[in-house]
Amino acid sequence: MAELTAQAVKDFALARGLDLVGIANIERFAGAPRRMHPASIMPRAKSVIVVARRILRGNWRGIEEGTYWPTYTYFGYHGLLNTLFIPMPMYDLACFIEDHGWEAVPYYPGVPERQPPEQPLRPGTVAPEVHLAIRIAAMAAGLGEMGWAKVFITKKFGPRVRLHAIFTDAELQPDPLVEPGSLCDRCMACVRGCTPGAIPHLREGKTVSVSIEDKTYTWGDVHMGRCTLGYHGGDPMLSPFIHQSLPGYRCNVAEQDLSENNAYKMCWPMSIDRWTPSDEDPSGYRIEGHAMLKEWGGDGSYGIGGSRGCMRSCFDHLEARGRCDQTFENGRFIKRERWLLPDTVRKSE
Ligand code: SF4
Repeated sequence: MAELTAQAVKDFALARGLDLVGIANIERFAGAPRRMHPASIMPRAKSVIVVARRILRGNWRGIEEGTYWPTYTYFGYHGLLNTLFIPMPMYDLACFIEDHGWEAVPYYPGVPERQPPEQPLRPGTVAPEVHLAIRIAAMAAGLGEMGWAKVFITKKFGPRVRLHAIFTDAELQPDPLVEPGSLCDRCMACVRGCTPGAIPHLREGKTVSVSIEDKTYTWGDVHMGRCTLGYHGGDPMLSPFIHQSLPGYRCNVAEQDLSENNAYKMCWPMSIDRWTPSDEDPSGYRIEGHAMLKEWGGDGSYGIGGSRGCMRSCFDHLEARGRCDQTFENGRFIKRERWLLPDTVRKSE
């Protein structure tokens, strides 16, 4: 059987259409909690391979212009990118690794909203479910760094990537870590673009840090309740569909202080629950526009806010400053004054 090398893994993955591949050795997870540790899933894991595929810049065009939402959810988020475009070549890579005699565990990088205390099923182990922090794993694999807005920034695409991982017991040459602060320049464009107010300003001093080997990465302590409201359709400043279904509805997201879990409990039922269809509302959905996006995006998540600050403002800035490699002939991404729906709370005061 041919020897499996890091270069062979990368050549195979890139030839299959993945855009970026990085490798971490298991020692780089020394500081990870056991319920977030690859070895809790695969005790003999020696390497973690993190793969990325770009989110097309064009996936956001319709949302940025305020005219078309489906492309982002369908192609750039849960509809196809997270559930088909990355898993297919990643699964091929796992087969390639197993063909060389090593076990390969593909990891599904769903974001765990909660990890309730449970009992371990075996003495001395941890309780299900174990969840890897995929962006921290990507830092450990040398693919980039966490930007201030808690999005993962790469040199080639800036924050326009989605990430998956494979654990293996093959010992592979790890990639060098990215120097902290070399990709995110603390410009605060993300803070200005995040109208839900989820990203703290640098001067507020709210940070999270993680150390990997001799490097410490620090980013803003994002308010996940506001982030979730903005992203998943709880913000009437970012969703025209709320206004269509619930004229006059008010919620100033930047004033909310709810948890991420409770933000989900607000957004999802408000968007996709149904009531008896009527002439006024033939579909019966509470917010038909949100429900349609979810249906077109399959069983997974739908994105209404389209990462206005944390991704769109960020790559607009990085491209303009030449801080990421992929730039475009048509210049900056943000081409005109950005739209925002009326802040009905402020208007009524
Ligand atoms: S916009 Fe991007 S580069 Fe600028 S501070 Fe935010 S995360 Fe960092």
